[in-house]
Amino acid sequence: MTRRHYPPGVVFHAPNCGEAGDGNAAAMKVLDAVVAYPSHRYCLCTGGGPDDAPYVVVEQIDYGPHLYEPKPGEPPRDAVQPLCKTCRGTHGPSASAKGTTSGLVVPGG
Ligand SMILES: [Zn+2]
Ligand SMILES: [Zn+2]
Repeated sequence: MTRRHYPPGVVFHAPNCGEAGDGNAAAMKVLDAVVAYPSHRYCLCTGGGPDDAPYVVVEQIDYGPHLYEPKPGEPPRDAVQPLCKTCRGTHGPSASAKGTTSGLVVPGG
């Protein structure tokens, strides 16, 4: 299995949710969204999962600048390292694309 970096956690909304953004975000298939954003949670508007929300709008969360701190517990099998406590991403290259993320590298055990 190829291990990969996880992007920071996002929220999935139903396309008609008022919190889904300014209405310009494109809806995507929930199954594609789950693959693209493994660290996600469902807004209440989706009814709680893919059965009620075949299409979702992905809301990117601004976690602000923070250091990578590994989340306790078992990391996902396909993640290159434990998820960050704050953003649930792995602080990989894509997560720091904005240039503001402090990518403190913690040597793996
Ligand atoms: Zn919502
Ligand atoms: Zn983080």
